[in-house]
Amino acid sequence: MTRFVDPALSEVEAKLDAGAALSIDDGLALYRTPDLHGLGRLARKRKELKSGKKVFYVLNRYINSTNVCYAGCKFCSFAADEFKERERVVRMTADQVYDKAFETGTNFNQIHIVGGHDPRQLSLDYWLPLMRRFKSAAPHVQLSLFTAAELDYMARRHRLSYPELIAKLKEAGLDNVNGGGAEIFAEETRAKICPNKVTSENWLTIHEELHRQGIASNATMLYGQIESLEDRVDHFMRLRVSQERSPGYNAFIPLAFHPDGNELNDCGWTSGLDDVRTFAVARLMLDNFDHIKAYWMIQGLKVCQVALQFGADDMDGTHGSTDEEMIYHAAGTRSGQYVDDREFRRLIEGAGYIPVRRNTTYDEFAWDWAPEKATAYA
Ligand code: SF4
Repeated sequence: MTRFVDPALSEVEAKLDAGAALSIDDGLALYRTPDLHGLGRLARKRKELKSGKKVFYVLNRYINSTNVCYAGCKFCSFAADEFKERERVVRMTADQVYDKAFETGTNFNQIHIVGGHDPRQLSLDYWLPLMRRFKSAAPHVQLSLFTAAELDYMARRHRLSYPELIAKLKEAGLDNVNGGGAEIFAEETRAKICPNKVTSENWLTIHEELHRQGIASNATMLYGQIESLEDRVDHFMRLRVSQERSPGYNAFIPLAFHPDGNELNDCGWTSGLDDVRTFAVARLMLDNFDHIKAYWMIQGLKVCQVALQFGADDMDGTHGSTDEEMIYHAAGTRSGQYVDDREFRRLIEGAGYIPVRRNTTYDEFAWDWAPEKATAYA
């Protein structure tokens, strides 16, 4: 047993050691504990039981293929009105997405693409041939595409059930669905910040169906907007139950709200302390998730390195040298566009851990692994 200043942490540790699930009250006690260092030690201990001394990163290509969207989420600074904001519209053709993916070569393990609810782009006619092209050119690259919000839109657009849509995407090579669109599940808050987006229930239904069909996924939570601590803990509880019902989530990624250029700007920025506390509470509440990701683009490299001492075991990865991530940059992130994989290894080693290169589904690779053959432009 670890010694803690706050007896609530000892109670949580005893429960976790006994394999018992934490309750809502436990989650609130973790968020409210004055013993931040004790919280970090407890989360780190649970992280090391899961992944030992390893901390993961991925060589990744990241693309926002369209910012046209009609959902009108209040926290979004990324979406563009295609008629009123023509100068802001980014709507890539399939060829442009393909060329951008390979502009820095083929030595990457994942392509991560998300975008808005764009009626001209979010369709099977656009995506299925592009996905097959990617798989044929670079079979070592895993396709981490869409969010459940995009899949919900696509299903409605094509008049397909979720299982029917997912089966088509699987057949074309989908490996993983990204964790976005979860925002906050608590319905009252969700109705205020994103009333037109996929419902909480359908978000979970889609991920569970993905897992049933053998496609992995991640999960997120948007914190630091108008939600309460109760909403955050409720979010963790729903994810943990969903993972029990239909396992297949690999990583949970806490997304800190960014205020620039959106309707919720008076919420301001999250603090570094709230960020690291949220990583730790997530690690403890989501004991059936293998990985907690500290995504440098969002909380910044320095906070994410500290998060490795608060239960996180993943830093996401490179974006490619010329990428233009738009979602968080439009909302004011001070993170740049590119971090070299050497920098990830330096930061991870500096935090006392062993850097491990991975792909989307956490297969491990030597740091200097390269594909034997990829035919992107052969
Ligand atoms: S968060 Fe996504 S769904 Fe919502 S408005 Fe922005 S792009 Fe559209």
